[in-house]
Amino acid sequence: MRVIVMRAAGFCALLLVAAGVAWAIVQGPKAPPPAPAPPPVSAVRTPPANPIREVEPAPQVAAPAPSAPATQAPAGPPIMAQAPAPVPAASPAPAAAPASPPCPGNPNALGVSRVVEVDTTGGPGFGAEHFKGMDFLRTGEVVLTFDDGPWPNNTLKVLAALARHCVKAIFFPIGLHATYEPDLLKQVAAAGHSIGSHTWCHQNLSKTKGRCLINGKMQAVEYGFKDEIEKGISAVRWAVGAPIAPFFRFPALQQPPEALAYLGQRNVAIFSADFDSFDFKMRRPEQVRQSVLTKLKKHGKGIILMHDFQHATADAIGQILDDLKAGGYKIVQMRARDKLESLPEYDAIVMKDIKTPNVSSRPVESVVRTIEGN
Ligand SMILES: [Zn+2]
Repeated sequence: MRVIVMRAAGFCALLLVAAGVAWAIVQGPKAPPPAPAPPPVSAVRTPPANPIREVEPAPQVAAPAPSAPATQAPAGPPIMAQAPAPVPAASPAPAAAPASPPCPGNPNALGVSRVVEVDTTGGPGFGAEHFKGMDFLRTGEVVLTFDDGPWPNNTLKVLAALARHCVKAIFFPIGLHATYEPDLLKQVAAAGHSIGSHTWCHQNLSKTKGRCLINGKMQAVEYGFKDEIEKGISAVRWAVGAPIAPFFRFPALQQPPEALAYLGQRNVAIFSADFDSFDFKMRRPEQVRQSVLTKLKKHGKGIILMHDFQHATADAIGQILDDLKAGGYKIVQMRARDKLESLPEYDAIVMKDIKTPNVSSRPVESVVRTIEGN
C-alpha cells in the first residue's frame, strides 16, 4: 500500500489516519520571520455590496432542459429523484446566446454555463455554511472546489474529469503539498482553473499548536495564523510560477475572527462551502457520489467542497459530473478580478525550505512512481 503523506492536524486528516493511511508533513512552520513588517495593505476596506460580476454571457454547452431525473440513475438507489428547477433567466439573456465552445470528444459535456468575476476587496465570504449574505448562485448552479492537493495521481484524475466535461473549478492547495508537486499545480493552472490557497501545513487556525512533519518526522509545532496563511500563499505562488487568486479556505473551516480580519486586510476572499461532501471520510467512490448528489438535491445548488487529494473523490468525480449533466445542473466558474501578491519575507522563508534538500521528507509517491506494470 502506498504511503500517503500529509498533515496531521485538522479533521481532513484524522479519519484517514484512523483508516490506516499515514499522513505526514515535511516542514513545519519555522520560527516566525524576524519581526515581519505589517502587510503592505492599505486601509481596511469593506467588501463591496456585490462583489460578483458576470463577465461572460452564459455560453451554453448544448444544454438541454433539465431532464427527467428518475430515469438517469443507474441501478441502485435513485440519487437524483428530482432535477433542479430550471435556472431562471435572471440576467438579460443575450439575444443570441453564443454557441458554447464545443468540448472535444464529449458531446454531452457540462461546460461552464456562466463565468463570474469576484472583487475580493475587503475579503468577502462565500458559502452558506458560514456566510449567508453572498449567495449569488441560481437554482441548479454549482461551483466545484477541491482542497488539499496537489497530489500524485488523484489531482491528475480530477483534472482529466474536469477537462472531459470542459468545466472549471477552484483549487485550494496546501502550501507544503505544492512544494512537493509544483508541476502538478502548474497543470492545474494551465487548465484554466482558479487556484487559491489553504495554509502551509493545514493547521487549525483556531489553535496555535499542532503537528507537522518536519524533516521526515511528525513533530509538535506552534504556529501563528499569519505564518500559516502567508507561507501557504508563498508556496502555492512559487509552485504555480505566477501570482494566484486571492481566494482562501480555512482548514476544517475553522475561521477565527482575527484571521478573517487579516484576510480582509489582504483583500482575500474566504471560501467556506454551501455544503461539504465529507469525502475525506469515504473510501469508496460511490459513497462520494451519493454524498455529493444527495446534498446537492437537498440544497438545490451550491459551492461544493471536495478534495482532489482524496483517492475516492478522484475516482468518483467523472461519474459525478456525468450525473450533474444528467440532472440538469449548471457549472459556474468563479474567477478573481485581481491577483494576490505573496509577501517577500514569506517567499524567502519558503524558498529556504525548498532549497534545503531533504528527500526523505518528501512523499515517496513524489519520488518514485510506477510507470509500467502494477
Ligand atoms: Zn483541507
